[in-house]
Amino acid sequence: MLVIMRDHASREEIDHVVELLEEAGAQAHLSGGEVKTIIGVIGDREVVYALELEGLPGVEEVIRVLKPYKLVSRDFRPEDTVVRLGSTGAIGGGAFAVMAGPCSVESPEQMRAVARAAADAGAAMLRGGAYKPRSSPYAFQGLGLEGLKMMREAADEAGLPVVTEVLDVRDAETVAEWADVMQVGARNMQNFMMLDELGKIGRPVLLKRGLSATLEELLSAAEYVLKNGNRDVILCERGIRTFETYTRNTLDLAGVAALKTLTHLPVVVDPSHATGRRDLVAPMARASVMAGADGLMVEVHPDPERAKCDGPQSLDILAFSAMMESLMPLVEFAGKRPGVA
Ligand code: PEP
Ligand code: MN
Repeated sequence: MLVIMRDHASREEIDHVVELLEEAGAQAHLSGGEVKTIIGVIGDREVVYALELEGLPGVEEVIRVLKPYKLVSRDFRPEDTVVRLGSTGAIGGGAFAVMAGPCSVESPEQMRAVARAAADAGAAMLRGGAYKPRSSPYAFQGLGLEGLKMMREAADEAGLPVVTEVLDVRDAETVAEWADVMQVGARNMQNFMMLDELGKIGRPVLLKRGLSATLEELLSAAEYVLKNGNRDVILCERGIRTFETYTRNTLDLAGVAALKTLTHLPVVVDPSHATGRRDLVAPMARASVMAGADGLMVEVHPDPERAKCDGPQSLDILAFSAMMESLMPLVEFAGKRPGVA
């Protein structure tokens, strides 16, 4: 349920509604704009409806929400959420952020080369997997803590914040120590214990869409994080499973445009995992900007042919900077600006 307060409702009026809701055992989440406050209510439907809040001073309207998510919805917060990326970047609300780096962290030299190139080309963040979710248990599983340290060092040298995947909830504290943004991979999108935990950890979360997840399931997963008090969630469209096998997945660009109307959270596109083919990464990156994306996650490797993971979809450094150059006029055309300091 959403309680829409009248324009310039007083602090006392808002507090009174919150007090009644809390007395009834419900949670009240406030979204305060310049003139309007909206209260998102989570609790037992019957009990909350019985409060008949419509008649209270300062209350304009009470909306019964039928969707399975509330806090992530644009109805609750009409303005775009802006998520800070470390101390140097931002995404959302017109800030367009590119996250670039290898699929997996392999060595200090590799990370240093990519971090420098990413920063030079105007990327806002360094990405790289230290804990890798691999389909085969015999494939390279990542360097773990050592990888996190390598990435941190390279990122600090280049002045970039770090985004990396937390694969297991037991590693959440460790990853939070080394990373600025915690990535939840497609395979973990509905790991609800993990989402609950990341809702409490005080680091922005990049939530990737599950391989066969609907937009409603993606938004409901994000709702877990917000419900636990963390409002800094970035959604990522990374392609979904369809009958088409030419590309690794099928990039749902209509889903990106739809998400921008359904939610206030920033939305990024990962054209690398969506296509699985490096020749399609730049065209899909450009299409993503025009579809309304707030950013991109792109796999970049100094020597893709020797990459331990996802070489065929990785851009080399030259191709990445060429892509970035071609992207910038479109970012401007879309009314956005680079999300870097
Ligand atoms: C990744 O970004 O490193 C990754 C494993 O992607 P996904 O979870 O989308 O498959
Ligand atoms: Mn990858």
